[in-house]
Amino acid sequence: MNEVAPPSPAGLRTRYCGTVGIADVGTEVCVCGWVARRREHGEHLAFLDVRDHTGVVQCVVDGASTLRSEYVVKVTGTVRRRPEGTVNDQLVTGEVEIGDCLVETLNESEPPPFVLGAPGQVDEAVRLRYRYVDLRTERMQRNLRLRAVVNAAIRRSMERQGFLELETPLLWTPTPEGAREFAVPSRHQRGAFYVLPQSPQIAKQLAMVGGVDRYYQIARCMRDEDLRADRQFEFTQLDLEASFVGEADVRAFVSDAVAEATESATGERPAAFPEMTWSEAIDRYGSDKPDLRFAMELVDVTPVLRATQFKAFMAPAVKAIVLEGGADLGRARLDALVERARGLGAKGLVWMRVVAGEVQGALDLESPVAKFLTPEERAGIVATALARLGDLVLVVADEHRTACEVLGQLRLDLGRPPVDAGPRRFVWIVDFPLFDGTDDEGRPQAAHHPFTMPHPDDLELFADEPLAVRAQSYDLVLNGWELGSGSIRIHRADIQRRVFAALGIADEEAQARFGFLLGAFRYGAPPHGGFAFGIDRLVALLAGEENIREVIAFPKTQSGSDLMTGAPGKLSQRQLVELGIRIVEP
Ligand code: ASP
Repeated sequence: MNEVAPPSPAGLRTRYCGTVGIADVGTEVCVCGWVARRREHGEHLAFLDVRDHTGVVQCVVDGASTLRSEYVVKVTGTVRRRPEGTVNDQLVTGEVEIGDCLVETLNESEPPPFVLGAPGQVDEAVRLRYRYVDLRTERMQRNLRLRAVVNAAIRRSMERQGFLELETPLLWTPTPEGAREFAVPSRHQRGAFYVLPQSPQIAKQLAMVGGVDRYYQIARCMRDEDLRADRQFEFTQLDLEASFVGEADVRAFVSDAVAEATESATGERPAAFPEMTWSEAIDRYGSDKPDLRFAMELVDVTPVLRATQFKAFMAPAVKAIVLEGGADLGRARLDALVERARGLGAKGLVWMRVVAGEVQGALDLESPVAKFLTPEERAGIVATALARLGDLVLVVADEHRTACEVLGQLRLDLGRPPVDAGPRRFVWIVDFPLFDGTDDEGRPQAAHHPFTMPHPDDLELFADEPLAVRAQSYDLVLNGWELGSGSIRIHRADIQRRVFAALGIADEEAQARFGFLLGAFRYGAPPHGGFAFGIDRLVALLAGEENIREVIAFPKTQSGSDLMTGAPGKLSQRQLVELGIRIVEP
């Protein structure tokens, strides 16, 4: 991490704990912090490890027996070399100690609810309940600093690129980005509600109409969605938007910010991010957020099986992945894979072990279905999949998208490296479809959000083949995590109406919900486009953390509770009356 050295402390202390070193030997210093550890040596000597946000320093104290863990202390003493044999290489300050210490207790502490510095051994619920104690740990201090370093880098990049930081309202109105929204009752207008923004999407587009040209904000977004490891109700995005730009311009803005952030965090600036079309990502990785750290690509064996007599393989697409050396997987594991594939929506999964063929040097497949395939078909599968002796080939025959996505998930199940392993592989996914499937009534669903500009070459397909219309939208993906997405926006009311119509949003509804936006488009909206990416996710990946909660100071649990404050809580009867709200028990 590119950390700025801490400034000289002012106030009660002359030095930070983690910065005391050999150069200070012989000088008197004063440090403040928490008692991390205390060891008695005989009756009248104690070693105190004092901790602040920069690290730990050992202090040697006469008769400090009243001090306990997490007491807040001010220690004054003289820095000296540690006696030979007691140097601690694990500690930045391990060559020295502060001797002849005078200790002032600034505050006492109850015994802490858990042992700090025992990562992994403390129940997360306890950590979250006492988050203010948990934040003192080295891991959390490091993660919070990393986050600040990333934010600062993002701001630097945005400012350098001429973006203007603008704050948009938190009390807002519903926007159609797919997530359920949090509502805030209005006291002045009973029965009316604000909505917490899912993102500043419409506000930033209005800022473009307002001539802001380039906008950015490190924005808090709120979505009432089920929580997962990479989701929280409230999360932070770098949100940006620019006028008179095309897709490539927006991607360049974002790439710079992400590269700057990554460099600040790791010391290495990543190489230019490659691009891959959405169709290629689905085809090769079965996912629109491919993890490129490992291969195990999907192969298409449809051509080999074009004339097959085996019913299960007479499908629009037959795709396969190869698990290297997987032929020795036992029956139970194989059955579990078949179950997993079914659970993911495939009709079935066929496994085939690559074995030695009858002819010397040739390979064949051993599988419960092998007898239904001709020797040519089996040889064709082995050759197309580039499978080798001892490998396992997994085959799904289905609709193209299903076959790809099921194998894409199995690829991750079987091959994905741990979150902190391997190189950082950024990739831009471009040319998303405008609509992603249809709803129960056969209406197309917006893949990104309904303000996304269709691809200019595909406008003709709108009426007859809406699902084939490409969008001018793009995602940034890092190691299989979607960092964010964006698009060129519709800036013309006529095209916006067409898209609303395709989505089944009638004119009146569009007027009622987004009248202010359509209205703004009547007053000279410039062409514009933008992006937003999740800072929590980026920081988690840079910190090598599995869970974004580890990089958020005060996160909520999986069920949306704040274990520290008890939120969400009840309102008093007086507040409810004021808001005109009556609670209906479930
Ligand atoms: N508002 C979008 C989102 O939060 C991103 C964008 O299109 O700028 O996903």
